[in-house]
Amino acid sequence: MNIHEYQAKDILKQYGVKIQEGIVADNPEKALEAAKQLHAETGTNWYVVKAQVHAGGRGKGGGIKLAQSLNEVKELSDQILGMQLVTHQTGPQGKEVHKVLIAEDVYYPGDNEPKEFYLSILLDRSNNCNVIMASTEGGMDIEEVAAKTPEKIIKERIDPSVGLQGFQARKIAFSLGLQGNAFKEMVQFINALYTAYESIDASLFEINPVLKTSDEKILAVDAKVNLDDNALFRHQDLAELRDLSEEDPLEVEASKSGLNYVKLDGNVGCMVNGAGLAMATMDIIKLSGGDPANFLDVGGGANPKTVEAAFRIILKDPNVKAILINIFGGIVRCDRVAKGVVEAYKNIGEIEVPIIVRLQGTNAEEGAKIIEESGLKVSSAILLKDAAEKVKEVLS
Ligand code: GDP
Ligand code: MN
Repeated sequence: MNIHEYQAKDILKQYGVKIQEGIVADNPEKALEAAKQLHAETGTNWYVVKAQVHAGGRGKGGGIKLAQSLNEVKELSDQILGMQLVTHQTGPQGKEVHKVLIAEDVYYPGDNEPKEFYLSILLDRSNNCNVIMASTEGGMDIEEVAAKTPEKIIKERIDPSVGLQGFQARKIAFSLGLQGNAFKEMVQFINALYTAYESIDASLFEINPVLKTSDEKILAVDAKVNLDDNALFRHQDLAELRDLSEEDPLEVEASKSGLNYVKLDGNVGCMVNGAGLAMATMDIIKLSGGDPANFLDVGGGANPKTVEAAFRIILKDPNVKAILINIFGGIVRCDRVAKGVVEAYKNIGEIEVPIIVRLQGTNAEEGAKIIEESGLKVSSAILLKDAAEKVKEVLS
């Protein structure tokens, strides 16, 4: 699960990680109040207005603006709230901004230039441990740093049986070229960050940039936090941070019905049992000249109810020109799926798009018979190849 920057920073702060202070607002008046309060608390006169959406690259997309007066905070918030923010992570349609974080400007001048670093913690699956990644090339696209100058990314693996060791935090801070107070603060920062990561069962922390201010303080300016969905049951307070308005409405609906659904841009909807078969079905659709409109795994326990829910979700996508149902009966019985298809047809009413059903495995013949005898405009295929041919036919 993804959360917003302001929520992530709140969590980090609770674990003693120093952050760029800020207050969230959902309208320009509240943004102004937030700035006044920040001024009272931190003494800052300059502010940053930061769009809160679940996507990175907000700065380049115009979602992060510096304000040099209270008035400007209000004006910029008015501009950013409600805008359709397009970044390299949102797709061309962008994401609507519902909230802004009003933060203190921490790039103030002083004895030294402020300097941006990169820091992340994630699960290194091939080495069965967490890894901390750090770089002096902060603030930039880390993918670009990894591609062009991989030697500038430091990696420190954490042995799960002993946890993060003091020398490892010092090694990272030293490798980043820090000294004096900034060195000390970076060590504390890394330790607190790692404790937070483990305590909340995160699967990713990415702090880009971590800032060394002109007076040698270390702060999190940005914070991307991914939580492990499988551990959310033991973090009720964190589960409540889910922002459904950031997710595709069809995907939200699907998850309520226990369906594994990912919306895509194509024209052939598919309903499959098993993630692997769903992937193979998407390939078949591609090979037959179509484009998958979705990924949908109805799961091992598909019954008439889940089939109907799946139908309704697929049909809500206006791009769908045909539906391919591909069920391999292992645990799930094909006759039950066939009944589900027939029932869904009756309950939903007129379904205009052609449907191709391929049932294989347990009770496949009974399933095919149910479909045939239903008198519905559903074509049945036994082989995947035939199913692909039929998709081709209905699309042409
Ligand atoms: P992202 O673009 O979504 O990654 O958002 P960030 O929170 O990382 O901000 C993007 C950029 O905005 C940073 O790399 C900074 O260059 C700039 N920025 C963020 N906060 C401040 C601030 O307090 N003062 C100034 N001058 N720039 C800031
Ligand atoms: Mn960032």
